[in-house]
Amino acid sequence: MSEHTFRVCIVHLDEGKAEIVSFGDRNRLIGGSGLAAALFEKYGLPLEPWSHPDQPLIFAIGCLTGYFPLMSKVVAGFKSPYHDQYAESHAGGRLALSMRFAGFEAIVLRGRARVPVAVHVGSRAIEIKDANYLWGANVFTTGRVIRRAFSGSSGHRSILRIGPAGETLSAYACINVDTFRHFGRLGSGSVMGVKNVKALVVSGDSDMELPGPDPKAYAKLFQKVHQDMTATEMMSKYHNLGTPGNVIPLNELSSLPIRNLQQTRDPDAVGISGEKFAEDLLIRNAACAGCPVGCIHVGMLREQFQDEHRFQIRQVSYDHELIFAVGAMLGVMNASHALALMDEVEKQGVDVMSAGVALAWATEALQKGVISLEETEYPLAFGDHKNYLEALWCLGHGKNEFYRTLAQGAMVAAKKYGGEDFACVLGQEMAGYASGETFFANQSMSFRHSHLDTGSYGYDQKKHDKDAAKAVAFFVEDERERVLLTSLVSCLFARGVYKKGLLAECLVSVGLPDLAASMDKAADEMQRLRWRMRMATGYEPEKTTVPKRFMEVETWAGKMDQAYLDDVRSRYAVAIRDLGRPVEPGKG
Ligand code: SF4
Repeated sequence: MSEHTFRVCIVHLDEGKAEIVSFGDRNRLIGGSGLAAALFEKYGLPLEPWSHPDQPLIFAIGCLTGYFPLMSKVVAGFKSPYHDQYAESHAGGRLALSMRFAGFEAIVLRGRARVPVAVHVGSRAIEIKDANYLWGANVFTTGRVIRRAFSGSSGHRSILRIGPAGETLSAYACINVDTFRHFGRLGSGSVMGVKNVKALVVSGDSDMELPGPDPKAYAKLFQKVHQDMTATEMMSKYHNLGTPGNVIPLNELSSLPIRNLQQTRDPDAVGISGEKFAEDLLIRNAACAGCPVGCIHVGMLREQFQDEHRFQIRQVSYDHELIFAVGAMLGVMNASHALALMDEVEKQGVDVMSAGVALAWATEALQKGVISLEETEYPLAFGDHKNYLEALWCLGHGKNEFYRTLAQGAMVAAKKYGGEDFACVLGQEMAGYASGETFFANQSMSFRHSHLDTGSYGYDQKKHDKDAAKAVAFFVEDERERVLLTSLVSCLFARGVYKKGLLAECLVSVGLPDLAASMDKAADEMQRLRWRMRMATGYEPEKTTVPKRFMEVETWAGKMDQAYLDDVRSRYAVAIRDLGRPVEPGKG
């Protein structure tokens, strides 16, 4: 292996074998988002469906992973069951450090195992074990059994697993990572499921040498970065109330999606505010490995047994997106009830935002007579968390034809049953910000259809001049900056600290001065490579839509402006086409 290539473990599930290959150039691909896209370019089958056994499921870290605080995320690259195009999803937990200590910068799962299996990747051994007995088990049971089955590997060990939704091939099944983190959006759980992989265990069981030409200089820089991370307001912002602190400000700005986006403000939102969760339910903070911030808020769920005399206490993580999706969007304005729904979402292994928004659509569709009890089986009603608990089980297990269709996405169900106007889908089910046209245009077309692709929801919250050209320039530039971070692979909460100058110092300290000098060029290339992969798998930005419901929203800034939204979207389509343009022969 050259010091400038990535070390990649490729597991051939059908043959029960693995190989270790040297891949790419760090100075060009950076890692994470860039490395995953390059691996998809090599191993992916753009024209075959997502469920083809030879489609790769890629997990990639970056060249700063494990060497600096909050360089703690992993990028998953795969062809998505949601839209059958190339997609990315990001997760924290212990996985990034486990991969670094196992000695692999990427793990690629190829082929399909004959029977359900658990895969173990470590520095000394790679094993594939029969896990047939776990098929059908929920995420928690699977975690408990897998921890015992691979008990020998301690230290940096990470456990990825899927629930029933990944087995029934929901378009938004997630991969649970170390209980509290997820590859949430766009269905990576079903990519694992279709490969017959119930769990992946990564053991970081080797040593890691101090990087770079001057270990003392590296150690000094590490201390400085660590201090910066803990001294800034980022620490208190994300550690204390955390993202649940957004609920009240968004409600006050009339930007909180409530009851399938029929409202954006409701005084009852105080019942699911970050403050309410902190006062009544918060028991501890948790953190991804190597992170001093600890933004993961864990609440206490008191669960009563059927005989009504005994209780068990469960620990459930929450943040703004979860509160929005199974709280506000479903009209469940009671923190304990919302937490119970989050717990069920975890068990089934579905993406919480897609599941919550899909059930919100189903509730309004039932109210309007578009569907009936014959489909939903339970009388779904905003605020009634008990029926939503049952519906989540049905969604995860694909109980009947209606739930199997809803598990392919709210818009898929709306196209079949009716009610497309009020399906809150922007490329995928919306995120928790009804901030205005700029965000709606961005999420409906952006690379991951994620609220984290750019800071567009923040853009809407500032007074701006509705200049569509300026908004699109912001999308492209902000995405490029984020692609650099998600290639390295940093937690995006650290973007205020990891400015370019500091990133260059970090890269020099780990022995990558050439990349430090060409960061912008490399980020630009990786941004384009990602879009090329999306286009090669069939993306047509002009065909995306923004349903009517979004135009009915009223925020602090007033009614939505259709002409501005259309202008932003048509200009953004042109910009995306430019980013995804195929490379001319000889110029790649
Ligand atoms: S800030 Fe939160 S999400 Fe980011 S690395 Fe730390 S614990 Fe993980």
